[in-house]
Amino acid sequence: KGVVHRICAGQVILDLSSAVKELVENSLDAGATSIEIVLKEYGQEWFQVIDNGCGISPNNFKVLALKHHTSKLADFHDLQSLATFGFRGEALSSLCALGDLTVETRTINESVATHLSYDHTGVLTSERKTARQVGTTVTVKKLFSNLPVRSKEFCRNIRKEYGKLISLLNAYALIAKGVRLVCTNAAGKSAKSVVLKTQGSNSLKDNIITVFGMSTFSCLEPVYVQLSNCCKVDGFLSKSGQGCGRSLGDRQFYFVNGRPVDMPKVSKLVNELYKGANSRQYPIAIMKFTVPTKECDVNVTPDKRKIFFSDESSILLALREGLQQIYSSSNA
Ligand code: ADP
Ligand code: MG
Repeated sequence: KGVVHRICAGQVILDLSSAVKELVENSLDAGATSIEIVLKEYGQEWFQVIDNGCGISPNNFKVLALKHHTSKLADFHDLQSLATFGFRGEALSSLCALGDLTVETRTINESVATHLSYDHTGVLTSERKTARQVGTTVTVKKLFSNLPVRSKEFCRNIRKEYGKLISLLNAYALIAKGVRLVCTNAAGKSAKSVVLKTQGSNSLKDNIITVFGMSTFSCLEPVYVQLSNCCKVDGFLSKSGQGCGRSLGDRQFYFVNGRPVDMPKVSKLVNELYKGANSRQYPIAIMKFTVPTKECDVNVTPDKRKIFFSDESSILLALREGLQQIYSSSNA
């Protein structure tokens, strides 16, 4: 059973960034306005997500890390609406299977917090009182240490994994409104360094300025395209000739209904149209798709990173026309 569970877990938690992603999304689901991501050795030794969200109530302590335990799925139709980030109760159980999981949590109804440890099958193994503000801290030590092949790969690629994680955290820093994000890393003997720090502003514009700076923001122009009667996209894109991306897809962030997603086809289109307008540079693109789930069908892969529109070709066509129009009017 243990092996099967580990294999399945490996499908939700593919790497460092998907592990941290699940924890950050849990914090956002818990209504946190402050989320701190703490890494030791780029996450290789351990990582921790600290939030000031609603906390976990004691009646959930035992079941928290069991497979398919979730407090979020109200009924089956909720699977369609994707209102919360989590909905399958797989993240904590997967993290248990792949590393050493501990949780510290306190709700507003408790006067003290509780420290909880879980074994690799998600069973609660110890519980003690501790001091903490309302909120939750989840710590994962030695991710993948019980999957030798994955573990080796993880160590070998740690810089790349770390880069991917930072890019993902940038995506949340761009999209989250009113949420303070801090990420620190402590490597070797040096003191911990701040990797990312945002104040939790309330507009995409202010978030872009925080993450990339004013000079980068001034190279962007707003984008708005109605893609169909129910879908639209808005955001910012490099002005003609002012792309700052250093490589393909660098500094491109796509969101669907507020979640960071990979959209290779959209990215390809954006790069193609931009090149048509100018030069060898790649554009910065920060684009938010709004897709009412009742009308437009979306399908998600297990790690929730890839999203497919049911009516993809007509959406892409509408986007192409919209972007062409933006570039032709800004060239005029
Ligand atoms: P899901 O997010 O799909 O519900 P998870 O395995 O990610 O499943 O989390 C299991 C449950 O643990 C959640 O439904 C939630 O009740 C609780 N939980 C996890 N992280 C937090 C957090 N940071 N704050 C409050 N509750 C949390
Ligand atoms: Mg979750």
